[in-house]
Parts: sequence; C-alpha cells; structure tokens
Amino acid sequence: MPSFLSHLECTSCNSIYSADELHTVCPNCGKVLFARYDLEAVRRNLTREHLLRRDATLWRWRELLPVREEANIVTLGEGGTPLLYARNLGRAYGFEKLYIKAEGLNPTGSFKARGMAVAVSRAQELGVRKIVTPSAGNAAGALAAYGAAAGMETYVFMPHDAPDINKLESAIVGAHVYLVNGLISDAGRIVKTLAPARNWFDVSTLQEPYRAEGKKTMGLELAEQFNWELPDAIIYPTGGGTGIVGMWKAFAELEQIGWIDHKRPKMISVQASGCAPLVKAFEQGKQRAEAWQDAQTIADGLRVPHPFADYLILDTLRASGGTAVAVSDDEIRDAMREWARLEGMFVSPESAATFAAFKQLAASGFLQPHERVVLFDTGTGIKYSHLVRAEFPVIDPNGRAWEEQVK
Ligand SMILES: *Cc1c(COP(=O)(O)O)cnc(C)c1O
Ligand SMILES: [Zn+2]
Repeated sequence: MPSFLSHLECTSCNSIYSADELHTVCPNCGKVLFARYDLEAVRRNLTREHLLRRDATLWRWRELLPVREEANIVTLGEGGTPLLYARNLGRAYGFEKLYIKAEGLNPTGSFKARGMAVAVSRAQELGVRKIVTPSAGNAAGALAAYGAAAGMETYVFMPHDAPDINKLESAIVGAHVYLVNGLISDAGRIVKTLAPARNWFDVSTLQEPYRAEGKKTMGLELAEQFNWELPDAIIYPTGGGTGIVGMWKAFAELEQIGWIDHKRPKMISVQASGCAPLVKAFEQGKQRAEAWQDAQTIADGLRVPHPFADYLILDTLRASGGTAVAVSDDEIRDAMREWARLEGMFVSPESAATFAAFKQLAASGFLQPHERVVLFDTGTGIKYSHLVRAEFPVIDPNGRAWEEQVK
C-alpha cells in the first residue's frame, strides 16, 4: 500500500504547499507545516486486519506516513513499543489503571528515533544528502544513527553539558559533533546561520513537517493498544512538544478515518520547574510562551527555553481539558528511584517527571483513581547513569572476614 500523503498545510495561515518538494517552515508566515493525507482514501483502503499482518515497527502505518517508496525507508526497528501495566506504581497511589508507554526500548534508547526515522527517510526520498539538528542530546543520537544508516553526512550541535553518552553515541556512528557553550536555543541559532550556505537540511524540532509524523505513531499505537478507545489522560514530558502535537494530530486522523470517536484524553504537559515556559503561559492564559531565562534542570530533554510550536502545544492542552505541571529536580530524582524500585525500570529523568506530575495531580484530584492514565517513558535511564549514586562493598577474596561483610 502506498502513502496517502497529499500536501503540506500551514498550521497558522493555512497556506498549502506541495509535499513533493523540500520544505522546512511555512514560506509565508514562518510557522509549523503539517503533512496532510487523503484520509478518504485511507478510510477506503486500510483496515485493522491489514495492520495486524504487518511487522511491529512504526512503518506498519505507512498509509498515514509520508514516505512514498518503500526503498527509501531507513529503519532500525523503531516503534511498536509495549504499553505496560504499572500495577505497583498505580497501587501505591490508589490507581487501578495506570499504564506506561515504554519508549525507552526504541533504537538509541529514546522516542526521538521515531521522528528521526521518518524525517531522514523522507529527506532521503526528496534528495537530501547532508542533514543537521540542534539537540539537547537524544535527538542528536537519533539523527546521527539514522543519518549513518541513510549514508548521509550528519551534523549535530548540542550544549557542552549534554550527557556524554549523547556525544559519544553520535560520534561512534560518524556524525560531526559540535558542542555549544550555551543552551539548545543557542545551538539552534548557530544551525540556522550555518545551514543554508552549507546545504545542510535542518530538522530542528517542528521546523520541518516529518519528525512530527514519526512521533504521531505513538498516538496511533496507543489507540490500538487501548482497543480504539483512548485513555482518560496522557502525561507527557514536554520540551519542544513534538509528541503532544504529533499524538493530537494522530487522534484527529484516526477519527476522520472512522476508527475512533470524538473522545480525547486530557493531554498533560510536564516541565521542569527550572525551565517551564509552557506551564507559565498555560497558567497565564496566554497563546504563546515567553523565552525562559537561565534554564536549568537535570532532565536535559526538558531544557528547551522557547519551544517553537508553543501555540500548537498550548492549544492542544486547552482543547483536551488537560493541564501543564512543573516538577522540581528533587521530585524528578525521587520519582526515578520510586519507579525503578516498584516497577524494575530505570527510566530517564524526563520520563520520571511524568510520574512526579502524576503524584501532584492525584493529590490535587485533577486525576481520579478510576481513570486510565498513561505515563510516557520517553527514554531509557541507562543513558543517565551520571544521575545515580550507589556504594558497593568491595570484597578481598583472600581476606579472612569476607563472609561477615556480606549481609
Ligand atoms: C526530547 C525528549 C523529550 C521532550 O520531547 P518533545 O517531544 O521535544 O517535547 C522528553 N524526553 C526525552 C527522553 C527526550 O529525549
Ligand atoms: Zn503559514
């Protein structure tokens, strides 16, 4: 089955563009472009039975993805992650229906793989040979991996204090890695300046149409995993917001092809209290967020001072009856430990932030014990071993008293 991609549409001024030429942001107004599909044709051609017979990667949704020729697909096995039942975490707070979408199982250990798999595949199809992104860390690792698999020249720019593993995982697959003495916003500015003259295609968050299409598949999978009846709330750690924006788009498309009804989850954004531009804008009833000053948090993926798609994220939170919550680094550390101990999962601080937010919202009554709530585990904790402290007794095998040391 082919892609039913039909055109690109601006999310702000509604201008229409051809989907078969390269675009970044809207040429008319500079805002986010969305990929649009012939959903009538998808409705007629795609059945749930088709889906069941396909491999478990995100490419099983190819009618709703932008890549036209199968030969252009660059895949490392992304998507198709499990929806885990969080029995122990839920029980500890009186919730019977708490779930975890386990995105840390993706290639490169985070859900960034979904967006980059689709963006790189489509870029390849449209003739791109050199590709670049600014990144807080995981986007760099994912772009580097898919860029390598596609045989592209790949450039990544990240803050100098991004986790070492993100620098190393990018370097090992051959990307050109640059560190910036500043934040992701500074890296973004540098990329914007360098890219045009060097013929680098810039895949900054929501500044080209196809990363969001990859992230959209999280929403498609959730709908299927909940048997086409969406959960009551989704808690998502929000930096640039591709996940929130992508899933919301997925739900609209599924309704238009007749697979779900109009009911939507409350979409809940979690940010770190050291960088919470969306929470502030949400609370003040604003349509746009202001740039956050002196952004700081241990959750690198949430250190995005000025999300480009702020207006889409804020619209989604409000339209869904959701909210935006800030959690402190201490709450994140506690949540990481509790999640690890109770469920046996070592998750990223960004993921742990969703559980910290869940605890706040359960205590305030915003979430009710009977509701079906999904925590987004966006990345594995193994990349964040620098946040874990533990002491281990060292045993001298020839010493006399070693048996006494082992309690
Ligand atoms: C990038 C990232 C986020 C934030 O994702 P957005 O879709 O950009 O809001 C959350 N968690 C992890 C682990 C990330 O790498
Ligand atoms: Zn526009």
